[in-house]
Amino acid sequence: MKYIGAHVSAAGGVELCVARAQALGANAFALFTKNQRQWQAPPLKAETITAFREACVAGGFSPQQILPHDSYLINLGHPEATALAKSREAFLDELQRCQQLGLCYLNFHPGSHLNQLSEEAALARVSESINWALARCDDVVAVIENTAGQGSNLGWSFEHLAQIIDGVADKSRVGVCLDTCHAFAAGYDLRTLDGCDATFNQFAETVGFGYLKGMHLNGAKSSLGSRVDRHHSLQQGNLGEAVFHYIMQDARFDGIPMVLETVEPDIWAAEIAWLRSLAV
Ligand SMILES: [Zn+2]
Ligand SMILES: [Zn+2]
Repeated sequence: MKYIGAHVSAAGGVELCVARAQALGANAFALFTKNQRQWQAPPLKAETITAFREACVAGGFSPQQILPHDSYLINLGHPEATALAKSREAFLDELQRCQQLGLCYLNFHPGSHLNQLSEEAALARVSESINWALARCDDVVAVIENTAGQGSNLGWSFEHLAQIIDGVADKSRVGVCLDTCHAFAAGYDLRTLDGCDATFNQFAETVGFGYLKGMHLNGAKSSLGSRVDRHHSLQQGNLGEAVFHYIMQDARFDGIPMVLETVEPDIWAAEIAWLRSLAV
């Protein structure tokens, strides 16, 4: 079964995400459980938690169909101790919010070395941050997203993802989310079915599909290997359609939330319907 949806707005309360996903014909969704551009957020109210859980049950969304995303401010590889501690606390808060909502994943960008640490050292620091946070919150799986590699962002190569996982003590609580736009911008050529085969077989060898817990399905305004993170609609831009045919036809992508972060929310319902048409 393919779980397909979009990153929907949580404006007015996280419980409203479910109806927004349903209106798109989605059977998956992503959300922010707090304002993604602020460090602090008020705790989730008991009635919000109840309303969210009830809406998910009523709408037929299991935790495995939902991919919460953390704040953009968090940098788990931060070179400086005070800022690193702040990021770790914020990440723990995000994990705890997911746990309260009954969710099983938290999707996050690994972090940046800010040209003050080697890649190696920064990746090790990200693993340590994950260990620190997982030791303080049960249940939720930390889902690392591959990045486009903009600036000093870590996690653009499969080797980076593998190295982070290698440093995580509890392998049952770490996973990966692959973003098609980011992979393409990082240099993985997904424009043909052969290119998809090569890329995903490389992923299988380097990381392993057992760790794949979600997908971000995006077209790309940026070009191959540009290391620029700029999404486009699925059927527009430089990535092309082959990768979406490939994913929809391949059972290794069954049973995980696959969500759009494409640039035109008005066509999300049509994009989801198009993806479904490729799966048959
Ligand atoms: Zn993404
Ligand atoms: Zn992106």
